[in-house]
Amino acid sequence: MVKLSFNGGTHKVGGNAVVVKSKKANLLLEYGVKPGTPPEFPGHIRAKDLDGIVIGHAHLDHSGGVPLFYLSEKKPYFATRTTSELVKILIKDMIKLNSYYLPFEYLELDKMQECRNDLKYGQKVKLKDIEFQLLDAGHIPGSAMVDLKVNGKKILYTSDFNTVQTRICQAAKIPKKKFDAVVVESTYAMHEHPDRKKLEKEFIKDVKSTINDGGKVFIPAFAVGRSQEIVNILRAQGFEGYIILDGMARAVNQVMLDNPNGVKTPGKYRDAMSKVHIIRGWRDRRQAIKKADVIVAPSGMLQGGTAMFYMEKLALGAENSVFIVSFQVPGTGGAKLMETGMFPIKDRDERVNAKVKHFDFSSHSGRTPLQSFLKGLKGKPDIYVIHGEEESCDFLAEWVSDELDLKGFAPNQGDEFKI
Ligand SMILES: [Zn+2]
Ligand SMILES: [Zn+2]
Repeated sequence: MVKLSFNGGTHKVGGNAVVVKSKKANLLLEYGVKPGTPPEFPGHIRAKDLDGIVIGHAHLDHSGGVPLFYLSEKKPYFATRTTSELVKILIKDMIKLNSYYLPFEYLELDKMQECRNDLKYGQKVKLKDIEFQLLDAGHIPGSAMVDLKVNGKKILYTSDFNTVQTRICQAAKIPKKKFDAVVVESTYAMHEHPDRKKLEKEFIKDVKSTINDGGKVFIPAFAVGRSQEIVNILRAQGFEGYIILDGMARAVNQVMLDNPNGVKTPGKYRDAMSKVHIIRGWRDRRQAIKKADVIVAPSGMLQGGTAMFYMEKLALGAENSVFIVSFQVPGTGGAKLMETGMFPIKDRDERVNAKVKHFDFSSHSGRTPLQSFLKGLKGKPDIYVIHGEEESCDFLAEWVSDELDLKGFAPNQGDEFKI
């Protein structure tokens, strides 16, 4: 008897939380927050009911709520070494920015670190009657899918995954075995990503044309994953201009360099990063912006972070560009900017004169790769669709039922299924 209990990430992007319940154990797969003020947590789960926790990758929508389980208990948690190091940086920053709204503090983060188990891809773990291993998910450095064997049932949990390789990640390693259940993300179930090579060429052309016209390019990007990808794209395309990287870049970069297994081509990565100016503080920031051609800084959705400083300096100049390089959750500053061309500067809504353009550099599988992945699955697994907007989850679940002769479900929060 195996059950999957969906406590978060259902019909929304972010806040993943799925419990695998076997005869003898309960294993929690991720416990993320939906970013915002205050951050939103998944459904309540009692720490004492759990035997362990797995974190697929460091993004806070998969990891941000985990310290909650260390208020009173000390349960083991499992992730790749890269993920655990990045989680430490990201959650620390979240506590710094949101401590007023959070039910935990630095102390819980420390306790969590004492309970970490660093896993290599393919390393087998046994927790009572639950066996699992982590496999490269190709999403960001250190990211993993969870491949489980529980009371004779085989289950795959994709977390966020990408079957197309990027500049810093290999493509996801999809296991070729017969699964009984697959829990899949659906961020881009209804959206096709453009061809990556063409997109890179267009991006570099627009970057150069802004700079040739005397402008600067501002790229809001997540501190982990997208920032490093953008720098690697610029360098791989032969861009020689002055790049500054802001946010938690120094600490994050150090993790990537200390864990070269986490990135696709460590040598190229080190080269690309060695020529970037990493911001050291406010004085440096104010000086560096004068020299910069390209600025990469969080937050990726223009919701706070040093992005607000760069927007204030650059958004009103018609010679500049603001290039959005990731999914913008509705209601965020970035989504509003793309819809209305307006952005709050010094607390006043202003019309942005800089050129605003979206480049779809995704680290998630798009519509066709997602469907190919599901078509390629062996056996007759039931498919559970999470981590997507309402209509994306429903669309993919229906597509599975209609096209694949499998059962597709888009669970709601609190739903439990027998496998
Ligand atoms: Zn992610
Ligand atoms: Zn995610």
